Amino acid sequence: MYPPKFDYYRANSLSEAFSLMQEHGGAKVIAGGHSLIPSLKLRLADPGALIDIGRIGELKGITANGNSTRIGALTTHAIVAAAKNLPQGLTEAAGWIGDPQVRNRGTVGGNIAHADPASDLPTVFTALGATINLTGPGGERSVAAQDFFTGLFETALQEGELVSSIDVPTNGGGSAYAKLFNPASRYAVVGCAAQVKVENGVCSAASVAVGGLTSHATKANAVEAALLGKPLNEATIAAAAAQISQDLGDDVMGDLHASADYRRSIAPIYVAQALTAAASRAG
Ligand SMILES: Cc1cc2nc3c(=O)[nH]c(=O)nc-3n(C[C@H](O)[C@H](O)[C@H](O)COP(=O)(O)OP(=O)(O)OC[C@H]3O[C@@H](n4cnc5c(N)ncnc54)[C@H](O)[C@@H]3O)c2cc1C
Repeated sequence: MYPPKFDYYRANSLSEAFSLMQEHGGAKVIAGGHSLIPSLKLRLADPGALIDIGRIGELKGITANGNSTRIGALTTHAIVAAAKNLPQGLTEAAGWIGDPQVRNRGTVGGNIAHADPASDLPTVFTALGATINLTGPGGERSVAAQDFFTGLFETALQEGELVSSIDVPTNGGGSAYAKLFNPASRYAVVGCAAQVKVENGVCSAASVAVGGLTSHATKANAVEAALLGKPLNEATIAAAAAQISQDLGDDVMGDLHASADYRRSIAPIYVAQALTAAASRAG
């Protein structure tokens, strides 16, 4: 299918991007194009003008800073997958996104700005307690990942703002990501990210999130509560993973890939898988 006609502008700096966005109201920014171009071809979007931010150097790269690592919005999934200074749950999730072409073109900022409920990174950033940094003509503000994803393809981004970077804590313990993927696209039918700390043989901190199940990444508070103070063995992990039904409530989505009942029934399996791997990495 052909996309609707659009004008194309390239921004070489953030300030140029903001002026172009102001000049062309209703325009969309394009980064890797791996969600936007399909949306145009399916006529789900018709913005009239595209502003290419893909060459803005200040939005690229990964920088470690104490107990946190900053990922520029234009960093590709392939670069994140190969990074050494990021939690393993994030690097493995990035390595399982799509195929090599998607990982070499798709960007972290585009992935989270698009906020597809089947995307992997919203789930991982929510579990890792990441902070999303947004920049607009008036300056920068930061939003916790848990509050950034607000609904189906909806985020806290406001008109005229861009995702500039993501700060990921690197002192949270062992982390892992597990997913049942769609065999055609690799998007998550069900995905779970988990991070745990183990002290004196018991779980002293746990953060778990699931994706693919509801309109946006869901923090699994009941699962987390069931882990605290327990040794992380097969029995306690299975009992905690079963709590995911409480966290999901009645809002599980079904579509042509999997019914809501199927997703709900397999969710504990992927929660347990992610927790088991995270626990072994936490020592
Ligand atoms: C075949 C295929 C398989 C895929 N499989 C997976 C998968 O398994 N898991 C997964 O998570 N994803 C998957 N994806 C999506 C992929 O991860 C893309 O990286 C992501 O969806 C969009 O990133 P992008 O850089 O291509 O963004 P674009 O397509 O350029 O933009 C997407 C949206 O975000 C906006 N945007 C882009 N950058 C910014 C920014 N910095 N600030 C504000 N808004 C911005 C754009 O205006 C647009 O609305 C797949 C995509 C394809 C085509």
